[in-house]
Amino acid sequence: QQTRALVVVPYFNRWMDLFPTIETLAQASSSQVLKAWEGLGYYRRALALHEGAILITQKFGGKLPETGKELRSIPGIGPYTEGAILSFGFHQKAAAIDGNVSRVISRLWGWKNRLDTKVSTQAIRGFVDVLLQGESPWVTMEALIELGACVCTPMPKCHDCPLQQGCLARKQGIETVLPLRKERKKTEIIHRCVLLISAGKEILIRERPAKGLMAHLYEFPYIDGLYLKTQAIEHVASWFGERIQYRGRGRIETQFFTSFKAILTPYLFDLVLEDKVNVEGHLWIEVSKLQEFSFSSGHKRLHRQVQTDTGL
Ligand code: SF4
Repeated sequence: QQTRALVVVPYFNRWMDLFPTIETLAQASSSQVLKAWEGLGYYRRALALHEGAILITQKFGGKLPETGKELRSIPGIGPYTEGAILSFGFHQKAAAIDGNVSRVISRLWGWKNRLDTKVSTQAIRGFVDVLLQGESPWVTMEALIELGACVCTPMPKCHDCPLQQGCLARKQGIETVLPLRKERKKTEIIHRCVLLISAGKEILIRERPAKGLMAHLYEFPYIDGLYLKTQAIEHVASWFGERIQYRGRGRIETQFFTSFKAILTPYLFDLVLEDKVNVEGHLWIEVSKLQEFSFSSGHKRLHRQVQTDTGL
């Protein structure tokens, strides 16, 4: 969901090589799981897959259960995934309603209420249930998803659509107006001043907390806000005193998450090796070993800058 299939295919193939069964996924460490997911975003989903695999191994003997109630007890499985597993995996009559399906249905039935309401959710589900009454409902379900992905796209290709005769939105000329949605929250821009502090062949990193956004991922230390060079120097000096050397500013990177666009401004520092001190909650890691750690996309790009810059 919300990730284009083309982007996911290489990830999927690599994931299946690494974790070909539920048991192998359950036995992996969370850092191996995050590493395989690195760059995809929505890291909570990777951890939920891992937790889910552990629970399936412990509670269901390593076999995915075949009822909605049992599937819903597994971390990370919401209504869409539950429906998709039941429909595609077990050929049951089950609705798997994603954004594509909601769009097709709202146009087909000329549904003029905003989609993000409880009434609409129930109505769309009711319409899908009607369509699933025929033979092989899993084929119909997949066809609806594909129709939404390939034909009834945000700019619909009605001339190619097998449903054009019965489509109310098309009859009323409102196919590009539907579905109605709440206005998107505007992207908020935030600034972060990232401190790339090297000591010989090592660099300072930290792990994000176990809860919240991008849990367990690694990052370079940063301070929130738009900092000038002098302020960044003062901040690093508060950790290391006079023993730091300012080396310059790196290339600015951007990172998108939820409704934020973070502007990452990196400042580079060198610390005299014999003066290397530990900073609470941080680790000194050899630059050549950074790729063993999972970083969020913005910090991963900074990590590449560090490698190019140091040649390590
Ligand atoms: Fe979508 Fe157009 Fe087909 Fe209606 S006719 S379902 S709007 S592609």
